[in-house]
Amino acid sequence: MAFEAASRRAAELRALIARGDELYYVLDAPELEDHEYDALLRELAGIEEKYPELLTPDSPNTRVRGVPRNEFSKVVHDAPMQSLDNAMNKEELEAFFDRSRRLLGPDEEEQWVCEPKIDGLAVSLIYNDGIFETGSTRGDGQVGEDVTRNLRAIKSLPLGLKRARAGKIEVRGEVCMAREDFAELNRMREEEELPLFANPRNAAAGSLRQLDHNVTASRKLKICLYHVNDAMSLGIGTQHDILRWLEAEGLPTHGRDRLCKTSEEIYGYLDEWDSARFSNSINTDGVVVKLDSLASRERLGSTSKAPRWAIAFKYPPEEKRTKVVGIEVSVGRTGALTPTARVEPVVLSGTTVQKASLHNQDEIDRKDIRVGDTVWIHKAGEIIPEILRVDTASRTGQEVPYRIPETCPACDSPVVRLPSESAVRCLNRSCPAQLQEGLAHFVSRDCMDINGIGEKLIRQLTESGLVKNAADLYELSPETLAGLDRMAEKSSQKLADAVEASKKRPFYAVVNALGIRNVGKKTARDITSRFRNIDALVGASEDGLANLDGVGPVIAESIKKYLSDGRNMSVIERLRAFGVNMEAGEEESAPTGVSDDFAGKRMVFTGELESMTRGEAESLAENLGAKVSGSVGRKTDVVVAGNNPGSKFVKAAGLGIEIWNETEFLSRAKKITPQEQDRRAPSHTLQED
Ligand code: NAD
Repeated sequence: MAFEAASRRAAELRALIARGDELYYVLDAPELEDHEYDALLRELAGIEEKYPELLTPDSPNTRVRGVPRNEFSKVVHDAPMQSLDNAMNKEELEAFFDRSRRLLGPDEEEQWVCEPKIDGLAVSLIYNDGIFETGSTRGDGQVGEDVTRNLRAIKSLPLGLKRARAGKIEVRGEVCMAREDFAELNRMREEEELPLFANPRNAAAGSLRQLDHNVTASRKLKICLYHVNDAMSLGIGTQHDILRWLEAEGLPTHGRDRLCKTSEEIYGYLDEWDSARFSNSINTDGVVVKLDSLASRERLGSTSKAPRWAIAFKYPPEEKRTKVVGIEVSVGRTGALTPTARVEPVVLSGTTVQKASLHNQDEIDRKDIRVGDTVWIHKAGEIIPEILRVDTASRTGQEVPYRIPETCPACDSPVVRLPSESAVRCLNRSCPAQLQEGLAHFVSRDCMDINGIGEKLIRQLTESGLVKNAADLYELSPETLAGLDRMAEKSSQKLADAVEASKKRPFYAVVNALGIRNVGKKTARDITSRFRNIDALVGASEDGLANLDGVGPVIAESIKKYLSDGRNMSVIERLRAFGVNMEAGEEESAPTGVSDDFAGKRMVFTGELESMTRGEAESLAENLGAKVSGSVGRKTDVVVAGNNPGSKFVKAAGLGIEIWNETEFLSRAKKITPQEQDRRAPSHTLQED
């Protein structure tokens, strides 16, 4: 490339990189994939190498990117928080080893530590006299943001070191979010029509860099540490020992590091981790290879951007080609039409993918996706299938452009696109698809938790005209239910009992169940912690709602609109008349997350509880900070076993997992007094079995 053209391209690349940096580091909302951004950096580095006169002092290749937000207090790092050089293939890794060996000298026998490269946000934590004192982000490497309060909200972060000692110790690591928690957060945000996070890294960064630490507390963040500053002053001589020291202090590490003596051992680790990483709940975008000896590290030193003693090996992005065989559109409970591409099956990040959401018409137009197109597909954050781009070179001319239908596929009413929205909506309030989706939401676990009403039954109930809105569910007698197709007498009675039991659901679950636009589980909790019964909520002013934490004007308007519609109010009144709970109980304040017995624990419930339904017990545990799951695995911390527990109990016993009976659960949740606890005979213990 001639100098003139190179200079123009370098300026262009700098502008693209600066825009990428702002979206990624400041707004936590990148538009580029990481490897696309990395390709821009590399292209610029190539130009700068060829024409050193184009290398500017602030080149993105010579300094740590990132800007501390002004809303946070600033923290000046004792030692710079650097980036890492990276290698995309084994040749680049070999070049790194050659350079290190050259710098260290031929006689040096070096060992290396391989660690997963956690896809999160770098943080520094200061412990003073063993107590957590300050925490900050990397920022621009020299100055970070003070996020101490937000870090305190991360349950796995110990507030004190196990072996308290005098003086200051700085440890560093990554704040991240598990893949399933990211998917759940995005699911809730989609429900509340909030912008989605691109991947777990951005979700973690967006959750930590919050001005309101309560928002951080409500997100399930994790922390993983891998570095101790000035470790040699603590008598630590190697990276391997840094990791063991962190563990001995009770600080979480990834625990998957390996000491390697030869390049072959390192390549072995890279190959193993390339498949193992998909079954790990924390995303890792590569492996960091670090010189083990801290003394040798000092001899190698650093550049202005990265240490010379470590390198990040990045796995190539998992993108596959497939074909769009059709586009289907579904109608959600708020009437939004969502197009989904059906694709030829393809294995991505360990599972077979056959569908990918296209979100809306704008997205289809932006990517120009047509039926019959060959496309590149990946999993955003290794979890959500997404079409990246069309392979236009493979087009044959037979591909068919797609337009979202102008009438609702479920009820044929004309659809509209409101000026402020990207979604197209069916506004017909009697649309069967909306009714069915609304009922599916109403009976779901986070709402009325009515077990036994699945998709097919909902279709039967609505198509037969027995159910025209949620309140009609409470009029169904066991006899009416028994008259339905494939409904045995026993199961109809069970279902009627489940409907009856749902009347006791907590008020926030009832509010969530109503299906108010933009209101999901979390917002429902925010609302009911302040407006504690239905009359207070109906009487709340729009401003009063908008001023609540986590609500704001858009959601407030949507709540008022819902509650001022006579048809909705008549459903609410009927629900109240049937005895559905319309009042917040004591435990229904904002999530407390205060109990050590529950905070961060993975819990599984099995068997029948006497004092509450399974759903209520699960909500109570979640309220106290536990993570409830449906199946027992090695990571399960506690199984709560009621009467007649099932196979989960047996599995838990086999794995040696802690098991609580109902009394123990209630006493730990402080739902019964110690006297009551003594009075109750244990309903179940592991030993009895
Ligand atoms: P990086 O993410 O490539 O690697 C350096 C970082 O890795 C360290 O600072 C540390 O925080 C982290 N890390 C994770 N696990 C580690 C471990 N076990 N040991 C040591 N460090 C570990 O570099 P960066 O400077 O943090 O960020 C630049 C990268 O961010 C780019 O290469 C790109 O992938 C991404 N980015 C993307 C966009 C976009 O638009 N998509 C924009 C800007 C940056």
